[in-house]
Amino acid sequence: MKRAPRANAYRDAWCGDLDASNAGAPARVAGWVHRRRDHGGLIFIDLRDRSGLLQLVVHPENGAELFAAAEGLRGEYVISVAGDVVLREERNINPDLPTGAIELQATDMQLLTESLTPPFPLDDEEVSLDETLRLRHRTLDLRRRTMVEALVLRHEVVKTIRDGLTAEDFLEIETPTLTRSTPEGARDFLVPARTAPGNFYALPQSPQLFKQLLMVGGYERYYQIARCFRDEDSRSDRQPEFTQLDLEMSFVDEEDVIDVNERLMAKVFAVGGLDVQQPPYRRMPYDEALLRYGSDRPDARFGLEITDVSDALRGSEFKVFASVLGSEGGVVRAINAGTREVPRSELDALTEVARRAGAGGLVWAFVQEDGTWRSPIAKFLSAEEIAAVTAALDGSPGDLLLAVADTKDTAANALGTLRLHLAERWDLVPAGSHDVLWVVDFPMFGYNEAEDRWDALHHPFTAPTGDLDDPGALRSRAYDLVVDGWELGGGSIRTHDSAVLSRVLEIIGMDAEEAQSRFGFLLEALRYGAPPHGGIAFGIDRIVALMGGRDSIRDVIAFPKTASGFDPLTGAPAAVDDAQLRELGLRPLDAPAKTS
Ligand code: ASP
Repeated sequence: MKRAPRANAYRDAWCGDLDASNAGAPARVAGWVHRRRDHGGLIFIDLRDRSGLLQLVVHPENGAELFAAAEGLRGEYVISVAGDVVLREERNINPDLPTGAIELQATDMQLLTESLTPPFPLDDEEVSLDETLRLRHRTLDLRRRTMVEALVLRHEVVKTIRDGLTAEDFLEIETPTLTRSTPEGARDFLVPARTAPGNFYALPQSPQLFKQLLMVGGYERYYQIARCFRDEDSRSDRQPEFTQLDLEMSFVDEEDVIDVNERLMAKVFAVGGLDVQQPPYRRMPYDEALLRYGSDRPDARFGLEITDVSDALRGSEFKVFASVLGSEGGVVRAINAGTREVPRSELDALTEVARRAGAGGLVWAFVQEDGTWRSPIAKFLSAEEIAAVTAALDGSPGDLLLAVADTKDTAANALGTLRLHLAERWDLVPAGSHDVLWVVDFPMFGYNEAEDRWDALHHPFTAPTGDLDDPGALRSRAYDLVVDGWELGGGSIRTHDSAVLSRVLEIIGMDAEEAQSRFGFLLEALRYGAPPHGGIAFGIDRIVALMGGRDSIRDVIAFPKTASGFDPLTGAPAAVDDAQLRELGLRPLDAPAKTS
């Protein structure tokens, strides 16, 4: 906040901006009493505003009234103070504080507002605060330095995006919040329409359809810092509403979209001081990500890569391997976890991790000096099989090998989960290391066993490549930006041919009538001269959390909800009056549930 505030009756300087260069000059500051200490006849006050802390000193010789006023101050009282900036004595310098070389010797003080005692200290050291309590008193929580830093960073990220995209000829255009369902695969939040009883608006899961309409409308380069709403089951780091940088471009292919966004993201990462490689970022095909990392958002900052050892075990007489390898899509995949002392109890715990990720079990083996294995399954395998698997995993004596025999997807998921678990358990990610990559060449559809139909892996507006008559083999023109195992953004080149889109909708089980009723407006727009187009969306909350080193996106959102979607501050969601319901033409089936 380097620019001084316009001087008025309250202040002419920010607390945190004063330094030794101001020594000898008068200043007036305003803010909250962060701390007050009485020291042998002197009163010290740490005054806080958004910019930081400044130490005030009140001497008795500057007036009895002033001194008495200072004595009456309590934490979070709001004051305006004038005085002279003076250099601190050498021994009193606080190197940890930007203003630590100076203090303001108060000559005048106005008490502007008193405060109740806050329910928790606002010192940043208090990191272990109960989150619900913090959110209940978010107003006070927002005063903590870590929160200020997070929201300043968030502002800088958004400003960098706006400046960067404006310089590339993008237009910022708003799209509606009260709209119709958008198919991002989550449940919609619905808003009853009073003027058309029995009908509902949906809150947008993303601006996907509108941004495509803007392309057909001729806007060529659009972006928006857009709020998106998805009514998904709570998960620790999900919010029912979150913010995307959403953008779309016309007359482009993958390379154009990736190029603009790499340039933009490099600027965004720089503003957050994230030490990442410069673009171009490497690209990893989806199949490779799944094979080597067991995930379509691979964290490649540590080893523990997965290897398919099926070939080394084909023909094995060990029943488990024989039956898995004999069935369609069955594989044996494994990780070389390196030389580790891992007791039996922990191996059991690792097996549990693999099980929870869907695997039937986990095979473990320690490579011994003579190349044989110490493993519950060693006796079922031939010496050749053991040697072949060890070689495929580059194993040497002492190494722990961990394997899963299952379908491709389950083996990938189980080992992918396991490697993340081990990385955390053994602290394998080098501190401060970051890795950015694009995942590309996604399948267009994934088979939804439960519902016995194809689902679009991204969304149905993504352009497929390949033969539409063979949905399982189709690829899509999609790309995801992955940083440190987080999917920060994803997008695609779209289908701009209405007939192809109709066919895609048919493949995911939507008949012409339903397609017409849900997306008729888009299908129609595509028939009026749609340019080739594509785009992407990034999760702003995640970007800021990553750059600010925060564990949760809730720490970079001013007023978030808890993991279960509750807002302890306002009490939302809350019951409404019967009269309001009646007006909307609604009648509750049950009494409202308690929401806290
Ligand atoms: N609408 C997509 C999403 O929210 C992003 C895109 O395809 O541009 O994930």
